[in-house]
Amino acid sequence: MKKYYLLTPGPTPIPPQVALKEALPILHHRTSEFGQIYKDTAEGLKYIFQTKNEVYTLAASGTGAMETAIVNLLSPGDEIIVASCGNFGDRWAKIAQGYGVKVISASVEWGKVVKPAEIEKALKENPNVKAVFTTFTETSTGVVNDIKTIGEIVSKTNAVLAVDTISGLAGQEYRADDWKVDVTVSGSQKGFMLAPGLAFISLSDKAWKLNENSKIPKFYFDIKKYKKSYLTNETPFTPPVTLIVSLQESIKMIKEKGIENVWNECKILAKASRAGMKALGLELFGEVPCEVVTSAKVPEEIGGKIVKTLREKYGVSIAGGQGDLKGKIIRFAHMGYIGKADILVGFACLEMVLEELGVKIEKGKAVAAAQDALMKG
Ligand SMILES: *Cc1c(COP(=O)(O)O)cnc(C)c1O
Repeated sequence: MKKYYLLTPGPTPIPPQVALKEALPILHHRTSEFGQIYKDTAEGLKYIFQTKNEVYTLAASGTGAMETAIVNLLSPGDEIIVASCGNFGDRWAKIAQGYGVKVISASVEWGKVVKPAEIEKALKENPNVKAVFTTFTETSTGVVNDIKTIGEIVSKTNAVLAVDTISGLAGQEYRADDWKVDVTVSGSQKGFMLAPGLAFISLSDKAWKLNENSKIPKFYFDIKKYKKSYLTNETPFTPPVTLIVSLQESIKMIKEKGIENVWNECKILAKASRAGMKALGLELFGEVPCEVVTSAKVPEEIGGKIVKTLREKYGVSIAGGQGDLKGKIIRFAHMGYIGKADILVGFACLEMVLEELGVKIEKGKAVAAAQDALMKG
């Protein structure tokens, strides 16, 4: 028997109040009882997205909402701009290319943040572009993009702005409407403190107009079906009833705390994580670190071993690097139900593992640095 600590940037731990909801008997989904719950979650999602637009819930992982955005906005042969700075930004391009959409890149090297001026330039040079796709917090590298500035730029053109907030929402300050984002997509297993399996998407009027001409074939992810069912507090197909009932509970917890306080808490955890990494002599990775995950460079020979040893010996799951960053960075998540004490557990165990792997460190230094940051608030 092992006790597990999940400090990964998705999935994240589930609060007991939420987990208990998953044990309740299944409600039938075409009942007013379920309809009321669905309606409550839909309203709560607007608050978390900071939008007046409807937010639809899909039975899919977060990528399902990304695909929903692509297939409902575009037609084969359309031109889009993808501004990527990591693995998840690249996913926008892969999905689009799979449907015959032409991708113009405004991407940057992994670890950097996307450059709003590059997007502006690409929009000027390609006036037919239908939409710009980018990422809020790029989980693979740990940076945050300046969505507000990008929103200002894109809103002055005919293009629609679609943003992946799968890891950043309910973690770092995000305001869909104020920042002029047309399409926001997210998922259940990160800041929302839920099991994986739900995806969320909202569309502005400008995005709905683009949808009118979209010719990519679609059925399950046809967003018009979700809009129609929404009127009667339903989903077009059988929803994951259990997850939606638990979503109601997690939204309730977020509302009780207040979204600003959720953002602020992640900010404090981020400060503590950065302080802990620096105290270990590990260089932070990423041009503008986000507040939901902290990335640090590690000696390449032991990169993979750190993650494996932490998990196998101490039950602590953190993430390593993806793609070219495999073995080169480690990533500590601090979103959702991850709290102050979890950060201390993470660093205490990381110190033991680094020493066991032959890295010269002084045990207790990272923990103390994180403690100081947490106590300062
Ligand atoms: C986790 C994540 C995804 C992928 O979500 P899935 O739920 O695995 O489909 C996409 N984008 C970002 C930014 C993520 O953090």
